[in-house]
Amino acid sequence: MNEFLKSARAQEHLLGLLQIPGLSGDEVAVANGIERCLHAAGCKKTWIRRMPVRPPLPKHFQMGNLVIQLPGTFAAPRRMFLAHMDTVPLCREAQPVIKQGRVVARGKTTALGADNRAGVAALVTVAETILRNKLPHPPLTFLFTVGEEVGLYGAKSVRSADVGRPAYAFNFDSGRPEEIITGAIGAERWRAELHGISSHAGMHPERGASSILMASRALTEVADRGWFGKVQKGKMSGTSNAGVIHGGEATNQVTHHVVVRGESRSHNPRFIRQITAAYRTAFERAARRTRNAAGEHGRVAFTAENDYLPFSLPERAPVVQFTQRIATELGLKTKCVAINGGLDANPLNANGIPTVTLGVGAHCPHAYDEYVDLAEFQRGCRLTLALATAR
Ligand SMILES: [Zn+2]
Repeated sequence: MNEFLKSARAQEHLLGLLQIPGLSGDEVAVANGIERCLHAAGCKKTWIRRMPVRPPLPKHFQMGNLVIQLPGTFAAPRRMFLAHMDTVPLCREAQPVIKQGRVVARGKTTALGADNRAGVAALVTVAETILRNKLPHPPLTFLFTVGEEVGLYGAKSVRSADVGRPAYAFNFDSGRPEEIITGAIGAERWRAELHGISSHAGMHPERGASSILMASRALTEVADRGWFGKVQKGKMSGTSNAGVIHGGEATNQVTHHVVVRGESRSHNPRFIRQITAAYRTAFERAARRTRNAAGEHGRVAFTAENDYLPFSLPERAPVVQFTQRIATELGLKTKCVAINGGLDANPLNANGIPTVTLGVGAHCPHAYDEYVDLAEFQRGCRLTLALATAR
């Protein structure tokens, strides 16, 4: 069936989609481009839906996810194919050019946006190929998500019923098609708001309790106890970071207000909470220790929220077995891997939709040297078509 997939068409879609601007929350032009292609290929209007902007999507988003559902031509459980439409700000005004079997950004003053227009282009190519050639297929859902790069918002808003309750899902947002991503890390974000006591730093420093000093003491303790950066405690591992610090108004004032924000990550959800707890304890201790001459100390308001849960699909999971079988039939040597970044697959797995992530040749995301390997992209498209049409 793969002769139906015209490699020139796939490349055309890739270059076309890479030229459409579409930062997170601003994906309408990308959605229009997708709809135009599929319409021309025979996709009925009634099969296409734009989901409303409702929580957890931020209010300023222009649209929710784009969902395209094709009724099956043979009976089988529904399969879902997804890719996120948004790109990171570094891709603003990117112009794709082809160089030695790769698509790169012209001038290397922007990132390319292969993350994730390569995934979008693969899905558009496959949906178009199925429609134009009337290939037999089970019920299919093509899901194009919004706001992945700023917090997996589109995927977090998906309810299984909105997308036809798929049995399996395949997320396209990576490099090598042979690598099946069956696990990804989870993350929590935390925020420490430190309240010190203000005073003139020259005349009455002893009356103050500095919130900058509190933050320094807390972070030093976190690092000294082995909870900063790469964290390894026995068999448990994870990472943490304090990434944002705000505070202070003048050099002659003992600082009374500082906000520190950071994150904790691990493949083990309990360990994520333990890392965050180490920060909470250190900030609370530092607040109590940082006193003025009258013995008054500062205080901290510490909050943490789950960003996304980790997942790990076993190799015997039906979606993994199915992917391996189809890939092997195409002659691909597959390997299951787990990664240390969040994916649209995290919330989908957490919401009961078994989801693997595959590559379509996109490499070096969020960097000036980002590129698409065209041979891998074509292989990824062939694998996607086979996954969408196999009996
Ligand atoms: Zn991505």
